[in-house]
Amino acid sequence: MTHPVIFLGAGPGDPELLTLKGRRLLDEADVIVYAGSLVNPALLAGVQAEIHDSAGMTLDEVLAVLIAAQRGGKKAVRLHTGDPALYGAIREQMQRLDLEGIGYEVVPGVSSAFAAAAALKAELTVPEITQTVIFTRIGGRTAVPEAESLRRLAAVRASMCIFLSAGMMEQVAAELMAGGCPPETPAAVVEKASWPEQRVVRGTLADIAGKAQAAGIRKTAMIVVGQALSDEETAASRLYDAGFSHEYRSKT
Ligand code: SAH
Repeated sequence: MTHPVIFLGAGPGDPELLTLKGRRLLDEADVIVYAGSLVNPALLAGVQAEIHDSAGMTLDEVLAVLIAAQRGGKKAVRLHTGDPALYGAIREQMQRLDLEGIGYEVVPGVSSAFAAAAALKAELTVPEITQTVIFTRIGGRTAVPEAESLRRLAAVRASMCIFLSAGMMEQVAAELMAGGCPPETPAAVVEKASWPEQRVVRGTLADIAGKAQAAGIRKTAMIVVGQALSDEETAASRLYDAGFSHEYRSKT
């Protein structure tokens, strides 16, 4: 009997933010390949599986381990930080498994974007301010298509969760302001969201880069930008407004 390879979301760091399904799959696994630099090793405490840290492995090596395990009838888990669907490079791994005729499943996890929003106690979709969230990154060694450069995205004025960019804070802020975001737009950086050493820095586009630099934050950090982070009074959500009727409640 063979088992599908599991691409599993580890969550943002706090071991309690792993799903119950994720916990069971790790406990039942025979082989686990994980990204050592970002996944909290506490998740793997006590597991019986043979463990590989993908940090020093090429894509071919990772796949060779997963394929050999699956063909040997073993339960293989590829553990990704946060949710595997965001910057997880799972697509190339799945395409290779398709070529090999190997089945797989994806089990979601709590993205660091949501752990960062929780740390900020922020609602990213505030009625009458924005109803849109953009997950993005600045172009670095990995290019970003020009149509979705930060400068262009700035025009949307949505809430933005900016991954993989904490080392380029100045460029992030400059690009967003060049694209038309006012310098007073609220911005925050959350380092190691949900870990015991979590740190939060709040500011505006004008000063966030300097504040993050002064705090020494350069990696494993989420940049969150948008008017939704402001603490100004906002119109109450229409959902709870007595003058607004919806499916489950009639107008009073
Ligand atoms: N799939 C992951 C993202 C992987 S890309 C997810 O859904 O969270 C790696 C980037 O994610 C980092 O550069 C950083 O921007 C962000 N990140 C991962 N873990 C984080 C954490 N605990 N706190 C803040 N940012 C984190």
